[in-house]
Amino acid sequence: MTEVEEVKARLDIVDVIGQYVQLQRAGRSFKALCPFHSERTPSFIVSPERQSWHCFGACGTGGDVIAFVMRKEGLEFPEALQMLAQRAGVPLRERQRSQDEDRQRERLRAAQEAAAQWYRQMLLRSEAARGAREYLERRGVDAAAAEAFHLGYSPSAWEATRQHLHELGFSDAELLAAGLLVEGESGLHDRFRGRLMFPIRDLRGRVIGFGARALDDSPSTGSGQALPKYLNTPQTAIFDKGGTLYGLDRAAEVIRQGGSAVIVEGYMDVIAAHQHGFANVVATMGTSLTERQVRLLKRYTQSIVLALDADAAGNEAALRSYEVAQEALSQAEDQEETSPVVTFWRGLIRCQEVASVDLRVALLPEGRDPDEVIRADPAGWRQIVDSARPVLDQRFQVVEARHDLSSPRGRAGAVEELLPLLGALINPVVRQHYLRQLSRLALIGERELAGMLASARTRRQTSPVQATAATPAAPAKGQAREEFLLALLLQYPHLRPEGAELPEELLWASENRQVLAAWKQMEGIEAVKEALPEELTPHLERLLNRRLPSFSPKEAREALADCRRRLERRQLEAEKQALAALLAAREEDLGPSALAEAAVSAATADERTREVVSLDIRDMEMGRKLHRRGNDGDGGEAAGMSSDG
Ligand SMILES: [Zn+2]
Repeated sequence: MTEVEEVKARLDIVDVIGQYVQLQRAGRSFKALCPFHSERTPSFIVSPERQSWHCFGACGTGGDVIAFVMRKEGLEFPEALQMLAQRAGVPLRERQRSQDEDRQRERLRAAQEAAAQWYRQMLLRSEAARGAREYLERRGVDAAAAEAFHLGYSPSAWEATRQHLHELGFSDAELLAAGLLVEGESGLHDRFRGRLMFPIRDLRGRVIGFGARALDDSPSTGSGQALPKYLNTPQTAIFDKGGTLYGLDRAAEVIRQGGSAVIVEGYMDVIAAHQHGFANVVATMGTSLTERQVRLLKRYTQSIVLALDADAAGNEAALRSYEVAQEALSQAEDQEETSPVVTFWRGLIRCQEVASVDLRVALLPEGRDPDEVIRADPAGWRQIVDSARPVLDQRFQVVEARHDLSSPRGRAGAVEELLPLLGALINPVVRQHYLRQLSRLALIGERELAGMLASARTRRQTSPVQATAATPAAPAKGQAREEFLLALLLQYPHLRPEGAELPEELLWASENRQVLAAWKQMEGIEAVKEALPEELTPHLERLLNRRLPSFSPKEAREALADCRRRLERRQLEAEKQALAALLAAREEDLGPSALAEAAVSAATADERTREVVSLDIRDMEMGRKLHRRGNDGDGGEAAGMSSDG
């Protein structure tokens, strides 16, 4: 048993979650108001048998006890594990790799913090910062907002910051590693000079890097070249731009409570939003939206709005500033030749699908920043955000407007732009929906479109499958299947395209989710190991050592598809069970006569009654869904079922 398993085995999920939310018995499970979204009737279920929780309301997610604590406390896996280990009385092995590195990181953070203080003082007091202060005033940033975001000014000298930090005991090596210095032709000098400074913080509010904006009167280089308007701290041991969102340290709680997050592009946009009471806004710091950033947000909400310039949304040239969520694309797609616009949108869809979040796009009036919109008309901003639409709907609208759909050439153009996007969809029901939409628009049969799509993505195998090796019973069965799936991915590298599409939520054990997430981000066993918290090394090793039958590439692919199907089925079954429990509890509350009445006149029934009826309907639908899945090729398990379609 690994440490992680031991911690989980010693804790009862009902106790742990019971500390955060008030649980009520519902059949063999417990129900509660979901702590992750606001609701008036419970859709949050904890199952003591499976030691798992599930919200089948707005969140539509679940997991084990560690996943709960990570989400509830906003912690990373190791921190959540640490917390639960303490509670369970399981001593965790000393983390070895850390000691030295931790000390180094600590020094880098201290240097960043000291620099932030220094820049702040400069902005407040230095004569040279007059331009910066005037700029903030012009842009309507008030003193409270400047203080809250700890804005600063970097002196426009080559060594002022370096010298100041030397006096505080930091070495050149440390300052270089922190990205505060840069190696020039004539040696080391300050990276940020004569700029407005935006400290970037991690989730715990610690400064990990800076964004820096040139001021209009900032010095240009000798050669008269224009300096970049924005400079950022480069990637360092503590600063990972693609895994950080500006403002999230201040926005996280608001996002969790309000249930949605808005992503903008720039520092000033975030500051303006917060200053005007829209504290759920964060920024990607200039360019790309990455899958990691989406995952980061997902800890707080499922519902994410990306605010895009209307111009950028449709226009290739304007899009160039959005570096596209490359990380989210699989290799195969990287190699395909498509326009940047298509790549960008496909990247967004892929982000949404892989992280399974509800990603919407809000269009800003052409050529205007969120910053400008918010200051000019806060109510207008709210309206823009509220009118956000699902990524693909937005895309359809733009493409429809741009092509002359009365001509065959125009329709072909629309298909060319939209079809690749449908290929990025994972959920077959959703894909079918958009295929239908495209079919109507392009006057091509759905089947033909599906064929075109399939030939564009031949790498993805969806062939039906024979059952894989039998696995042991009950709760352990699911866990074993999760591990089997991971072992497949780790041991058969050619499964990457299929594996990249697996939603992590499919796995219930946090340790397995972590491994899947690391595997998606990194190629090669060593890199995966690096990316995982050290506590998970034993778990990873077990997966690597797990003996698998020697599959041919095709068999491995089929085994993976089969595994996935079974895990999806498990998900549906759990949901069905939870629904049934909730329904039973609710019906009991209400009594049979109210239900009968509701059946006769649903329109006049009170809200609670209507809810039971709707639960009833969902329950039936779920049953049908399960039944259908049972019939499509789930091997032996379905053999006994009738097929009345
Ligand atoms: Zn929920």
